[in-house]
Amino acid sequence: MRSSGEVSRPLDDVFAHVDANRELFVGRLADWVRRPSVSATGQGMPEAAGYARDLVAAAGLEAAVIDTPGWPLVLGHRAGPPGAATVLVYGHYDVQPPDPVEAWTSPPFEPEVRDGRLYGRGGADNKGQHLAQLLAVESLLATRGQLPCTIKVLLDGEEEIGSPNLAAFADRHREQLAADLVVWSDGPVDPAGGWRLVFGVRGIASFELRAKGANRSLHSGNWGGVVPNPLWTLVHLLASMKDDQGRIVVDGFHDDVRPLGPAEQEALRRLPVDLEAVKADLGLEELDAPVGRGFAERLAAWPTLTINGLHGGYGGQGTQTVLPAEAVAKCDVRLVHAQRAADVYAKLEAHVERHAPGVELVRQGSMEPSRTPLDSPFTAPIAAGMAAAQGADPLLVPVLGGSLPLHVFTGVLGLPTFGVPFGNPDQANHAPDENLDLHRFHTGVKTAAAVLAHLGAAGGDDR
Ligand SMILES: [Zn+2]
Repeated sequence: MRSSGEVSRPLDDVFAHVDANRELFVGRLADWVRRPSVSATGQGMPEAAGYARDLVAAAGLEAAVIDTPGWPLVLGHRAGPPGAATVLVYGHYDVQPPDPVEAWTSPPFEPEVRDGRLYGRGGADNKGQHLAQLLAVESLLATRGQLPCTIKVLLDGEEEIGSPNLAAFADRHREQLAADLVVWSDGPVDPAGGWRLVFGVRGIASFELRAKGANRSLHSGNWGGVVPNPLWTLVHLLASMKDDQGRIVVDGFHDDVRPLGPAEQEALRRLPVDLEAVKADLGLEELDAPVGRGFAERLAAWPTLTINGLHGGYGGQGTQTVLPAEAVAKCDVRLVHAQRAADVYAKLEAHVERHAPGVELVRQGSMEPSRTPLDSPFTAPIAAGMAAAQGADPLLVPVLGGSLPLHVFTGVLGLPTFGVPFGNPDQANHAPDENLDLHRFHTGVKTAAAVLAHLGAAGGDDR
């Protein structure tokens, strides 16, 4: 393997091409955002899959729409020089529903540029970000006539609904997806504005706890003290799962939690976090228990148990002296490496069985955590490519607090997987007035091109 310092040519020609095509690229982004692709409702989906295939083809790749039991995937492929790395680029062409539409300044599917940002649903999440990857391929081909690496592209049509068919597809198409590494661009840069290179995500396991009392709601005076109250049942059950020091005390819950290595811990220490500003912004005096645990470490290295909502009985104005018939707690667990959703569900079920046998635990959606080690041989060339385009070394983020279906790549396919987000921190993804900072978009095209160039120079055969 040659070192990443040996990128044979500077990237001035590619960067100049991107600069010269700024307006054209923004127009391409606006055309893409103008096409609804709401996986949750189906709005525009079949047409959007065809359009995504055309975008992949326009970038210079062989492209195809692949059916799944849900919304289709779009695949692309173009061979690079023999011996060069094969990079699988992952993105998603579906978007969140635009509701509430009336809260948008301009309509969600009529993209508008204001103050250097393009506003529209999907502009940041994820059309602008995978389009930047495709425009990088196109720009490399336009300036150099060939790619530095072999490129494969996989655009998911179901990311916003949890990618329910992605793992099975990857499992059945290993040959087609064979690569040396995966690169994805989604989500924001660091909240303070620094570009970041992301190595992992937490997973998630959502569930409901359902408690039942009598077969109907009752008068709290006539029946209180006689008939059990399902809300109290849930309150006691929930209190038995996490203590007042913030420790999750479900038996075996932490069995598979693997601590971060020294490189990961060092990277966490370098992340800029202004704790006082965070607390002021949130109107908080203190962070959650346990005290003394670092901010970045909490989000990266520790699982959580969150009560999303607790419902039952009367919640209206004034009083209603009711003894409710049923109660529901909606909860999620954020999983960390190397926990598995099925195992954590089983441990939660055993806990419920022991502490509140009448309560039903209903499993809902889950996603496994994913972690790529910081000392991967691809880290240096990717970071060097980012620095070449962005003018500064990226922040290294061992694990993001949120969840993405990256276990499909690290777990099912066994590939190191790297996130290179281009979105501004205030992109309002999933919310009204979603927007992408166009300077980030253009720098994103350059970044994606530079990363491929540096990966190409680093080679792929000998890994
Ligand atoms: Zn999203």
